Amino acid sequence: SVEGKTVVVTGSNSGIGLGVARAFAGAGAKVVLNSFTDRDEDHDLAADLAKEFGTEVRYIQADMSKGDDARALIEKAGVCDILVNNAGIQHVAPIDEFPVDKWNAIIAINMSSAFHTTAAALPMMRKAGWGRVINVASAHGLRASPFKSAYVTAKHGIVGMTKTVALETAKEAITCNAICPGYVLTPLVEAQIPDTAKEYDMSEDEVIEKVILAKQPSKEFVTVEQLGDMALFLASDAAAQLTGQAIAMDGGWTAA
Ligand code: NAD
Repeated sequence: SVEGKTVVVTGSNSGIGLGVARAFAGAGAKVVLNSFTDRDEDHDLAADLAKEFGTEVRYIQADMSKGDDARALIEKAGVCDILVNNAGIQHVAPIDEFPVDKWNAIIAINMSSAFHTTAAALPMMRKAGWGRVINVASAHGLRASPFKSAYVTAKHGIVGMTKTVALETAKEAITCNAICPGYVLTPLVEAQIPDTAKEYDMSEDEVIEKVILAKQPSKEFVTVEQLGDMALFLASDAAAQLTGQAIAMDGGWTAA
């Protein structure tokens, strides 16, 4: 059980990260929330979650585009039994027009931050004799779509990192897996609808139907609650021998 264990979730003041944090808080874990902002509402979110679930919840500001910040997040947490690398951003543009700063930010936040947090957290897990690394990759860690070169590159990269970390920890009570969600209706997806509409010359409703859910045979969005439950399963004893896997939760997208 994860009761009393400490989970650090990067990028968790919104969307999937928050859904995962809520699932762990509900299971009695101590939770560290994170994002790059340091607003009252971030700290209030932690206080509200602590009250709702009767567990310890802290908010630690750290910018996952910076390696030093990513490592400092784990050091400030002090304990990290379960690490969920979830922070991520998206930008949609053809590769020859792709802004270099967006490329660099996506590679840093969606991929390299997990290298830094994992490097900082593994010694803590080894000391505790138990650990879980859960990377929130994407169906785009297994398949490509046009106009998402940085994102697809970063997500394929993190799937590779997942397998490598699994091999390096294989003889220990530590596992490392990636969850590969299809489309989840979070601010990240909502924000890319206007740009995608422009690229495809479609209305925003057409983008949801013909571009986004076109990939997803179930024709339904994955929910953050379902992803929270999958993360909890990966942290459970039942999943002790489940390591190095990229688990798709995508309504059948990657079955095709
Ligand atoms: P979201 O925008 O709701 O959440 C992203 C989170 O990352 C936020 O909490 C944000 O504050 C945080 N973040 C952004 N930049 C950061 C930085 N520099 N430092 C620290 N935190 C930062 O989006 P989401 O959909 O919940 O995305 C979460 C993860 O799930 C991402 O890695 C994303 O690629 C992945 N994902 C999302 C979908 C989807 O359909 N929404 C599908 C597959 C994978």
